[in-house]
Amino acid sequence: MITEHLTTSREDIEKAAEIIAAGGLVAFPTETVYGLGADALNEKAVASVYEAKGRPSDNPMIVHIAKREDLEKLTPDRDPRIDKIADSIWPGPLTIVVNKRPEIPGRTTGGLDTVAVRMPDSETALQLIEMAGCPIAAPSANLSGSPSPTRARDVAADMDGRIDAIIYGGDCRVGIESTVLDLTGAKATILRPGYITADALEEILGEDVEYDRALKGDPANEADFKPRSPGMKYKHYAPKAEMIVIKGRREDVADEIERRKKIAEEEGKKVGVIQFGEEAFAEAAHDFFSRLRDLDAQGVDLILAGALSDEDGVGFAVMNRMLKSAGYNVIRV
Ligand code: AMP
Ligand code: MG
Repeated sequence: MITEHLTTSREDIEKAAEIIAAGGLVAFPTETVYGLGADALNEKAVASVYEAKGRPSDNPMIVHIAKREDLEKLTPDRDPRIDKIADSIWPGPLTIVVNKRPEIPGRTTGGLDTVAVRMPDSETALQLIEMAGCPIAAPSANLSGSPSPTRARDVAADMDGRIDAIIYGGDCRVGIESTVLDLTGAKATILRPGYITADALEEILGEDVEYDRALKGDPANEADFKPRSPGMKYKHYAPKAEMIVIKGRREDVADEIERRKKIAEEEGKKVGVIQFGEEAFAEAAHDFFSRLRDLDAQGVDLILAGALSDEDGVGFAVMNRMLKSAGYNVIRV
């Protein structure tokens, strides 16, 4: 298959929308990461997304909408919490999990009775959804397991030859995937941390927001690690290089990175370092995945990454990605 490279011109988005309406696959920019889109109501199209990504079929997709009214076609739920979220965050980097209507194929939701829905904050994405005339199921546009793509060239590196088209938009503003918030239970529960923090959600909803236990648990402890979001259980975001996260006081972390770098280099290894500024959470979110991809492209053997404070909500979201990238390979100093 030859993958067409498109721009964000109106004609090109129209072309992309036609591909999606006809059951094809198009990668497109959103404010979080690039998505790989298909008609969410077309079972065959959705099946081909799983195939193109090599994604396990029990890992459900987020369904993207362009207008508030589109939500009613996906869920029968009437919940004041949905209104509050839609009014204050959408379009934006927050996904809600709600009960699904029977018209949504089980393929799209990984066999679950619930569906994850988001309205992305990207003109290109909104136009694409509107022109396609259907909700668009879109996981991140990378091969399953590899770092999420935040630049069109990252999408091309993974997906050229596997999908119909890529819309070349700019770099993604946020850089990590959306916060996933489950609204099907009595307590609003964060299943995946993201740029929209628990504090912000509590303020908007006017009630307590919980974290899925698996997010705070120790992955070495099986009993702790039963995520309610199926995608959270898989090996994720992993660079090709071995990766170690160093955790501790800032100066100690810097020293330990230097020490380990020296040793590894003496062994003839090529070493990459990722260290963000102390409070630079947004910058870390923006840069993390592209740094992993750049270091892999440089052919490094080992990546040493300094842990961020995970007390701030965005720091917690970045640390969630960083720990998974490293396969929970953490050293405390
Ligand atoms: P990605 O497609 O890579 O952005 O990942 C989507 C995330 O949303 C995965 O972690 C999924 O497990 C999660 N997700 C999608 N639909 C549901 C759902 N119905 N219930 C719980 N989590 C979901
Ligand atoms: Mg993904």
